[in-house]
Amino acid sequence: MFSKNRTYEQHDNEKNSFYRSSVEDLNSQDRLTSDLDADICIIGGGLTGISSAINLSKKGYSVILCEARKIGWGASGRNGGQLGIGMRKDQFTIEKKLGLSHAKELWNLGLEAVDQAKNLINEHDINCHLINGVMSAACFEKDIEEYKFEIEHMSKHYNFEGYKFYNQSQVREEINSKMYIAGMLNSSSYHLNPLKLTIGLAKVAQENKVKIFENTPIEKIKEEGDRVKVIYKKGIIRANKVVVACNGYLDSILGFKKNKFMPINNYVVATEPLGEKRAREIIKNNYAVCDTRFIIDYYRFSEDWRMVFGGGETFTSNFVKNATSFVSKRMVKVFPQLKNVKIDYSWGGTLAITVNRLPHFGTLMNNKVSYAFGYSGHGLALSVLAGKLIAENIDGNHERFKFFSDINHMSIPLGSIFRRPIYSSAILYYKIRDYLNS
Ligand SMILES: Cc1cc2nc3c(=O)[nH]c(=O)nc-3n(C[C@H](O)[C@H](O)[C@H](O)COP(=O)(O)OP(=O)(O)OC[C@H]3O[C@@H](n4cnc5c(N)ncnc54)[C@H](O)[C@@H]3O)c2cc1C
Repeated sequence: MFSKNRTYEQHDNEKNSFYRSSVEDLNSQDRLTSDLDADICIIGGGLTGISSAINLSKKGYSVILCEARKIGWGASGRNGGQLGIGMRKDQFTIEKKLGLSHAKELWNLGLEAVDQAKNLINEHDINCHLINGVMSAACFEKDIEEYKFEIEHMSKHYNFEGYKFYNQSQVREEINSKMYIAGMLNSSSYHLNPLKLTIGLAKVAQENKVKIFENTPIEKIKEEGDRVKVIYKKGIIRANKVVVACNGYLDSILGFKKNKFMPINNYVVATEPLGEKRAREIIKNNYAVCDTRFIIDYYRFSEDWRMVFGGGETFTSNFVKNATSFVSKRMVKVFPQLKNVKIDYSWGGTLAITVNRLPHFGTLMNNKVSYAFGYSGHGLALSVLAGKLIAENIDGNHERFKFFSDINHMSIPLGSIFRRPIYSSAILYYKIRDYLNS
């Protein structure tokens, strides 16, 4: 449970993911061999880091980005591909916590996040197979009332008409599984191949003169007068501002800030290609789906009609060596008709869960260091937005960054020791609850 390895080293016992096999790695020719100087140094080559890089370079800053392994090595290149609006929690819960006006600002930013990702995809012609529609599929009776409440609440208070209720027979018409008793379609959300998006955006960053260094793990950052020293094995980068974009892979670069989230590992499989006809017999309109259990199942079809099915979590700092049987058991429970299909790929990724499930943004060292993490499994669109807001904040426009940085986040007491075990107890509790309710 307490491995000495860095979190980004956990994937070393895995094979390539489907996503990795679907796209060529970034051709990052920059090699870091000596000390360097830049306006901005970004640590982490996922969507938060890359989006920060694009936005800052467009504002005229010189930008260096350092990634410990490869671009998209972390969650950005391994996730379920659901590009969702909103936050991990429903709006009503956020209103109760932050008040209506703050909740509305976050809602608008959540809509902007998806629009921003779509615009970048269109503007730069990134071929990441964007498909409309994400269905929430209900496992419990109580979900039906909650869907109806949410649809009405969002229509009345937010003028949002993008949700649609499906009763049992309607949802089973869409998703060929006996698991679900209702559904709620979100027609403002999308799904896509996330690594193609991440690498596509990294190329946009390069076109904007961002220097990207892969295989460059940063060991420490240190304040040095009005600059920051970014220390790696072979030297030092000096920058006016630093952006830390490591999300679930954050170890000690930000000191005790890592105790603001729990790192958890979540797993995914991809079947052999099933062909469009068979795929549409399973999900008629090719939506992405996520269910309503605490440890959710989420799935969708890939561009070559593989079922990409995610679900199942572990909390130790070592990855399950072969997640195939771990996840495919869950898949076959939902779709017994897939019992004999071949699983071509399985992999995992680490995400960062905050106690209140809202992202944690902030600054340290007199605003010289910015960070954003803790998207709580809902970060595909929000990480792209985070980069934009970090860039605005660094450029002196603090208002929208503050909508996130003003949110209070609980630390996990003695988090360095307990953040994994505490979450494991929670997982056990909810696993039992999911089981009893199913
Ligand atoms: C299995 C899985 C499924 C998910 N499904 C969805 C989904 O369907 N929809 C959704 O919205 N969200 C989903 N998420 C969450 C989403 O993927 C993340 O919130 C988002 O990708 C976070 O992006 P990021 O750039 O902040 O972090 P990451 O993409 O994790 O990138 C962090 C990077 O930092 C690097 N790094 C760490 N330490 C150092 C260091 N010392 N020096 C240099 N580099 C370092 C890592 O190698 C890594 O590449 C999922 C996550 C997982 C793991």
